[in-house]
Amino acid sequence: MTYDVTVVGAGPAGSTTAKFLSEKGFKTLLIDKEKFPRDKPCGGGLPLRVLQRFPYIDNDGIIEAFSSSGTVFSPSLKYQIEINRDKPIIATILRKKFDFKLVKYAQDAGAIFKEESTLSTVQITKDKVHVIVKDGRVADSELLVGADGVNSSIAKNTGLRKMGVEKGACVLQEFEVDEKIMDDYFTKSRHCYIHSRFNTTAGYGWVFPKKHHVNIGFGIIQDFKTLKQKQNLLQCYQDYIELLKEKDLIPQQLDKTPIKGGALLTHPLEKTYGDRLLLVGDAAGFVNPLSGEGIYYAMSSGQIAAETITEALEKRQTTQEILSKYQTRWQKDFGKDIDLILKVIKRGSVEKTEKIIKIASNDEILTNLMMGVIAGELSVQQYKWKIVKRYFYSSLKNCLNP
Ligand SMILES: Cc1cc2nc3c(=O)[nH]c(=O)nc-3n(C[C@H](O)[C@H](O)[C@H](O)COP(=O)(O)OP(=O)(O)OC[C@H]3O[C@@H](n4cnc5c(N)ncnc54)[C@H](O)[C@@H]3O)c2cc1C
Repeated sequence: MTYDVTVVGAGPAGSTTAKFLSEKGFKTLLIDKEKFPRDKPCGGGLPLRVLQRFPYIDNDGIIEAFSSSGTVFSPSLKYQIEINRDKPIIATILRKKFDFKLVKYAQDAGAIFKEESTLSTVQITKDKVHVIVKDGRVADSELLVGADGVNSSIAKNTGLRKMGVEKGACVLQEFEVDEKIMDDYFTKSRHCYIHSRFNTTAGYGWVFPKKHHVNIGFGIIQDFKTLKQKQNLLQCYQDYIELLKEKDLIPQQLDKTPIKGGALLTHPLEKTYGDRLLLVGDAAGFVNPLSGEGIYYAMSSGQIAAETITEALEKRQTTQEILSKYQTRWQKDFGKDIDLILKVIKRGSVEKTEKIIKIASNDEILTNLMMGVIAGELSVQQYKWKIVKRYFYSSLKNCLNP
């Protein structure tokens, strides 16, 4: 079969790309190796800016809950930032439901979706993209979008991703909990918890209460290579669960559910396009290097990719010179924020995190600014000077009145 565009991977990045391309009238093939609905290891925390940027999602029954309160603990657990708001800080979702719905949006827009279709071979020639799926089916198209996630074979096989790229990792469990118990523990405001640099690691623990699920996880978002670190990650997670139970922050009895895990790239790839090719979402390494949050970037990159492809196909020019606009656009859109966060975390340490949380715990304005950035409500670029100024003001006040 012949298509305008083949999109490999039907996570948030691929489905969003396929939706916007189909809306423009391009014949779009979306393939995924899994049978849908499929699950994906994820905290299921959805920044509100996803709903602002993609308003078609909002009232569609795929948001499990909104959290309007939370606590962020310092590494020593001595200091804490408390947030209590009238309006939500973050939304929560179940990936099985959410990703399936995004596929449906793409199909409704006209995309042809083929599940249980594992990509086997890709050939990009001067005239076309030739894709072969494991069962032997073949598709030809003008352009290819690699939305095949963190282990993207497209990124590796096209040389856009080099060997030994830096990776972080997270483990989690999602427990089903009776709604009444959820209300008792997490209140109606679905109080969430973050424990920064728990056990002095370069990571954090999270508790995201949903409607009748609680998602508990631990992640080391920065580079993560050795097996020893992997064992540490699991150990940290077990220690974290123990701490949460000891402090009675979660129910003592939780059902048996498997521990799941996943990797994340620690920064975007240097180049995310080639002749007839774009990479989106995790395949391109688009995650928040501080929190590991990636759904916003996956969907935004999909939208930007669709815009760039639309122009390329309308001009009938699919060379990398034309497609390089994609990289310029994502850098301008969210890439600058990622760069800035990368610079900040390079200078981070357990001591600095402790100090920042100590200072913010006495300053509601600073807390709100920081939470706005962490929850993805405010752009880091836009608010960086406001945060820096407020931090120095508050530090000074703290020194004068210890
Ligand atoms: C443990 C963990 C917790 C996380 N928590 C959060 C969170 O709370 N909030 C948040 O915003 N982000 C979170 N993230 C990040 C988020 O999950 C990713 O950034 C997001 O899923 C990226 O979307 P994507 O579409 O690029 O990739 P994916 O969602 O991974 O989708 C890729 C798709 O490609 C398919 N695929 C792969 N290879 C092939 C192939 N060869 N042929 C066909 N199909 C293929 C896969 O089946 C999959 O469906 C978390 C990540 C991890 C690992």
